[in-house]
Amino acid sequence: AKVAGRNMASWFEPDMEQRVAARAVLEADLRHALEQEQFELYYQPQCDMQGRMTGVEALLRWNHPQRGLVPPVEFIPVAEETGLIVALGRWVLKSACTVLAQWSAAPETACLRIAVNVSAQQFQRPDFVEQVLAVLAAAGAPPQRLVLELTESLLLKDVDGTVAKMARLSDAGVGCALDDFGTGYSSLSYLHRLPLVELKIDRSFIWDADNARIGGAIVHTIAGLGKALNLDVVAEGVETEHQRGFVEAAGCHRYQGYLYGKPMPLPQLAAWISHAPL
Ligand code: C2E
Ligand code: CA
Ligand code: CA
Ligand code: CA
Repeated sequence: AKVAGRNMASWFEPDMEQRVAARAVLEADLRHALEQEQFELYYQPQCDMQGRMTGVEALLRWNHPQRGLVPPVEFIPVAEETGLIVALGRWVLKSACTVLAQWSAAPETACLRIAVNVSAQQFQRPDFVEQVLAVLAAAGAPPQRLVLELTESLLLKDVDGTVAKMARLSDAGVGCALDDFGTGYSSLSYLHRLPLVELKIDRSFIWDADNARIGGAIVHTIAGLGKALNLDVVAEGVETEHQRGFVEAAGCHRYQGYLYGKPMPLPQLAAWISHAPL
């Protein structure tokens, strides 16, 4: 056992060291990136079941000078652990509200919404609601066009506090969506208490919908729940016409996925909108 233990140690240690070092580099790079404005928002269009564009989800990208485009799965967790997500989240909100303000000035874009992802840490700050309203006001963006995507993990800590914050946002016109619905902790018992406008069905269930009966049953169940609670149900990750037909039949109101459009930089989105049926 001793020998095995030593072998294990010598096998694990360099790997651990490397990972710790890589993480430290990533953390330093992240701080630098915020100052150097290396972040960019991509926008993925959403549409109703008739294919009319209803808005976009803003998705964060990191244009790393050496590594190229870094996807959020690689840096959001580190940004969350280090607390950098708060500053990063504020930047995301500001950028999205600037676009909303521009859109509100033109009749063909005035009805489009922008959904922004909010991490639990950001939302849990006592001044979160004030911050959102201040950013909207400073940008001159209509609150009715902003949707905040929250995850179920928020509900674990402080349901009453969460409900109160969402209610204040809702009073100001800002809608909240429950993101990745079905993947988190069972929040079914609180769901009716939350002033939500939208449920987003996680992509993993849509992927399964083609083949597995389970995925299909889950999509049906969530859509039914949304209907009962009078919420918009959005299917994410719709890649095929078959899946689109499936989520429509299940009762989803809107969808987002590669079938309709991939996340794209703002200039490309502007060109895209000029061709999209609104
Ligand atoms: P999410 O909020 O669930 O975003 C949807 C993800 O699904 C995006 O990945 C999007 O590119 C991807 N997606 C959409 N349609 C399809 C499809 O048809 N097929 C496939 N294969 N993928 C599709 P992305 O952009 O890599 O973002 C990953 C996650 O990172 C997001 O998941 C969200 O949790 C997080 N994230 C992104 N931007 C932000 C941000 O500004 N703030 C925070 N806190 N989190 C963010
Ligand atoms: Ca999202
Ligand atoms: Ca999602
Ligand atoms: Ca997801």
